[in-house]
Amino acid sequence: MDRARVEAAVRELLAGIGEDPDRPGLERTPQRVADAYTEFFHGLDLDATRIAREGTVPAGDGERGDLVVVRDILFRSVCEHHLLPFLGTAHLAYAPGERLIGLGTLARVVEALASRPQLQERLGEQVVAAVQDGLEARGVLVVLDAQHQCVTTRGERQTSSTTVTVAASGVLAEAAGRAEAITLIGAGASTGAVAGADTTSAAGGSDATVLGGRDHGTDV
Ligand SMILES: [Zn+2]
Repeated sequence: MDRARVEAAVRELLAGIGEDPDRPGLERTPQRVADAYTEFFHGLDLDATRIAREGTVPAGDGERGDLVVVRDILFRSVCEHHLLPFLGTAHLAYAPGERLIGLGTLARVVEALASRPQLQERLGEQVVAAVQDGLEARGVLVVLDAQHQCVTTRGERQTSSTTVTVAASGVLAEAAGRAEAITLIGAGASTGAVAGADTTSAAGGSDATVLGGRDHGTDV
């Protein structure tokens, strides 16, 4: 990231909204925003598939199971339409091949892909692709449930609205595998919405189910 350029742009932005970038309260704002952006966008330099691949371990005898579910990975990302954060939870199910992946690695995969200008739908698809390729899984399914600040703080200000998206690959993109994975993810979930997600329309690699609010993806 070009820090000097970001700081200059923030100064210009402050002037643009009619503020005085030199008044005491705003003096260090360009640096602070640059600090925050360094954190928000550090994933642009990271290879998520490699993170996934390097974090896997061979499955031992009897360890393989039909389906592994990891729930409640917290993430934050930044919507590329408004540059406002969206915050939520990722749940992941995969059908293992010869290798397994742990919670810590999955959290780092999600973090790498979330830390860039993003759309929720694409984030889900990229997590699926990285885990699928890194792990050589037979199938991967990711449910993301997030609150978008561009929805909660502006426009209609739907402060409790969340957006749920589902992306899947391999055997978990097929109707039966997908339904089972979503049921397992939804079992005991804080998000009752997940259990009610549309599980039958998944003919292809991924689709999105939106509950409780307008579709962020169409909000340009
Ligand atoms: Zn947005």
